[in-house]
Amino acid sequence: MPRPIHATVHLSALTHNLRQIRQQTRGAKIWSVVKANAYGHGLGRVWPALEETDGFALLDIDEAILLRKQGWEGPILLLEGFFQAQDLALIDQYRLTTVIHCEHQLQMLQHAQLSQPLDIYLKVNSGMHRLGFMPEDLMAAYHSARALPHVGQITLMTHFANADNHLGVEPQLAAFNAACTDISAPRCLANSAAVLWHPHTHADWVRPGIVLYGASPTGRWQDIADANLRPAMSLNSEIIAIQNMATGDAIGYGSRYQANQPQRIGIVACGYADGYPRHAPSGTPVWVNGARTSLLGAVSMDMLAVDLSELPDAQIGTPVELWGQNLPVDDVAQSAGTIGYELLCAVAQRVPVIIR
Ligand SMILES: *Cc1c(COP(=O)(O)O)cnc(C)c1O
Repeated sequence: MPRPIHATVHLSALTHNLRQIRQQTRGAKIWSVVKANAYGHGLGRVWPALEETDGFALLDIDEAILLRKQGWEGPILLLEGFFQAQDLALIDQYRLTTVIHCEHQLQMLQHAQLSQPLDIYLKVNSGMHRLGFMPEDLMAAYHSARALPHVGQITLMTHFANADNHLGVEPQLAAFNAACTDISAPRCLANSAAVLWHPHTHADWVRPGIVLYGASPTGRWQDIADANLRPAMSLNSEIIAIQNMATGDAIGYGSRYQANQPQRIGIVACGYADGYPRHAPSGTPVWVNGARTSLLGAVSMDMLAVDLSELPDAQIGTPVELWGQNLPVDDVAQSAGTIGYELLCAVAQRVPVIIR
């Protein structure tokens, strides 16, 4: 028998979440963001569950080629554009749409030889200061791109830094709108948080990522509890040993947890080499045999320990959910000082995946 750990990807949850987003963004087209191997869910196995989307957005040309080879014929957007002039040949061959976020990319585009018009997304730096043309440079960039015979449709794009917090989208929205006023072109602004909480930013195309996978843009599950989204991934394992600790006995590396009364403890086949966060402290929630209990002591490479004081029926072989449909990934992430995004993307290669 293999180690009892496995991840389950729930395809029906992905389809449901996309439909839910569709309802909330009526009129807008949807780029389903599937970068980072579909946020750790496995691009090649999950994209068909999202085929009602209008397009897929990602970063790696290799991931785009995978989608084409597996039969997706609709739009594909490269969110960071290309990195070298020779990438343009693949972009042309596989009919990809590309972001152009800087002068350097624009120059490579100017010298490209393409077999058909290339659709581009001109990215505006409206205040996040990662990628994009400064608002005052947008007009010139637009005119240089528009003058190229091998450029097809141009869409204007920006990305919000604070759609998920109290700073909100207004300063960036104002900067973007001011930069774009004299340009008649489709617009694309909203990430998941803006899809949920800033409907006036939906425009022509939206770019939801994390909500497709049923986790929260804020990292707090309560913030999406009423959004009718379903977790698309569960990480499950089993108890593989029971320890009956006496008062004063310690558990795991560094003896970080010590029993202050006799205590029954379960050892679970899941560790940081599976993608479970090593920094999760004692008290992090774990779902065991239908109830929430607590992680105890340090997470090791292949194992972690849970409290079974209130779970007398738990035995070797008892099922454990590290996160999923009973325990939101955001709750685990929050306890470990991170966000669900990071945990989903970090599920290790060695964890077998079951598709439901
Ligand atoms: C990752 C990404 C998104 C999706 O973000 P979520 O918070 O997961 O919705 C949208 N747009 C761009 C440019 C991105 O890089």
